[in-house]
Amino acid sequence: MDSYLPLGLVNSLKKMDHFDSDAFQHIHDSGEQLVSVHLNIEKPILRNDIWSTEKAYPPFGLAGKVPWASDAYYLRSRPSFTLDPLFHAGAYYVQEASGMFVSFALKHIADLRHKLKVLDLCAAPGGKSTLIQSLISQESLLLSNEVIKTRVPVLTQNLTKWGRANGFVSNNDPSHFRRIPGFFDIILIDAPCSGSGLYRKDPEAASSWSTELVKLCNQRQQRILSDVWDCLKEDGFLIYSTCSYSKEENEDILDFLFNQYSCKTVALTPDPLWNIIETQSDFAQAFGYRFYPYKLSGEGFFLSVIQKKQTAVTEKSNQYSIGNQAKHGRATKSGKNSLAISKSAEKQIGEWICPDTLEYISIEDSIHALMPDLMSDLELLKNNLYLKKAGVRVGKAGERDWIPDHELALANFLRYDSPALHVSKSDALDFLRGNPFNTHLPAKGWHTVCFQGQRLGWVKLLDKRMNNYYPKSWRIRQ
Ligand code: SAM
Repeated sequence: MDSYLPLGLVNSLKKMDHFDSDAFQHIHDSGEQLVSVHLNIEKPILRNDIWSTEKAYPPFGLAGKVPWASDAYYLRSRPSFTLDPLFHAGAYYVQEASGMFVSFALKHIADLRHKLKVLDLCAAPGGKSTLIQSLISQESLLLSNEVIKTRVPVLTQNLTKWGRANGFVSNNDPSHFRRIPGFFDIILIDAPCSGSGLYRKDPEAASSWSTELVKLCNQRQQRILSDVWDCLKEDGFLIYSTCSYSKEENEDILDFLFNQYSCKTVALTPDPLWNIIETQSDFAQAFGYRFYPYKLSGEGFFLSVIQKKQTAVTEKSNQYSIGNQAKHGRATKSGKNSLAISKSAEKQIGEWICPDTLEYISIEDSIHALMPDLMSDLELLKNNLYLKKAGVRVGKAGERDWIPDHELALANFLRYDSPALHVSKSDALDFLRGNPFNTHLPAKGWHTVCFQGQRLGWVKLLDKRMNNYYPKSWRIRQ
């Protein structure tokens, strides 16, 4: 049988000693498909231990753990995620297993209990951002950036579903990050690439492979790295990854970095039983980690960690650190869009959110909740970047009463005693379609719609009817 794999790709990979071209061809021709998810451990369903390997949540059968990631599982088959309300509640994210190695790298390089500032530069649709959110502390900051405007909504949606109050989304070109030198402790660059690692999932994509494409990707990757190098703190870590097999997009990129900047390679000691291949670049001998589908349960992936070395003392003054940030009170009063919130807003918010856990800020006509201490970061980020999301939008004042925001329904900090309608799966799906449903209507007012303890969104109950506030652009059509 003729393989759909580009001959040029296979021939270029044969130059690497570890590469087994027969096994590579065979696994691609087998048509085997893997499905994996990682769980949002802060959602109540997980706290209540409904999910676990022993008690698999229908309609899934769990087929074992992804060894290099926390709370991540393979599924026995691919269910209809669209028809699972828990998918829409953000209880889990469907993510390719090899890419979850970011989780292992992050744990290896940082004490995740500390307050960290993390940038996910090429973030849409948000798989790795949700993974990072699950690992970093609540006090840490995650900025998820996406340069392509049309891909920002899906990123924002996925992070909204994840429900944390320490995340920001921006829509900037990598070069704009030069404006905030030394700001981040960790940067993930999950770079745009030729995508050969995903050909088993999408064989048709293989027809677009060419040596010119690989060259083009290599140049773009170099440009992206040069653009963001300055905004990494000294001693900070850069995690570089691709889903390409090509050395030009992986080890050669590490050599480019070492040639341009002062950096150190980081060895990640994965368990030998995982069958991840460790490589070293030609010149700097920088470590890289390669995933081949014939060696492990995952698609093609490459990851490397580089630490930025300290340079001259004079450059250090450019760096932002916790020590030189301005102190803020409960809500910042500076800036055109940033006003302290009113007493009535504070009272209403108290009914939805446990007090004293968050700080609030008015942006345009809405109140947003952020983890304390992130206010000064918000000021800095919004003065330098095009922010599309900051923390969690809580709600806004309507003509008569307060209108809670959809983001609040999905937030992990919404009070558990706030009014809720607990519904069946078929009512939950009706709600997600934007329809009314047949549940008995208790009291009037705002209620979250809950399926298996997970909030999906808001309804407002009136005398004999309900208004469905599930956002139009999120509604399911099946
Ligand atoms: N990290 C994402 C995840 O785990 O869900 C996947 C990221 S995907 C491999 C690469 C991303 O880079 C895409 O979202 C793409 O829009 C973005 N991108 C494309 N060209 C870019 C450029 N020139 N600079 C920065 N990002 C770019």
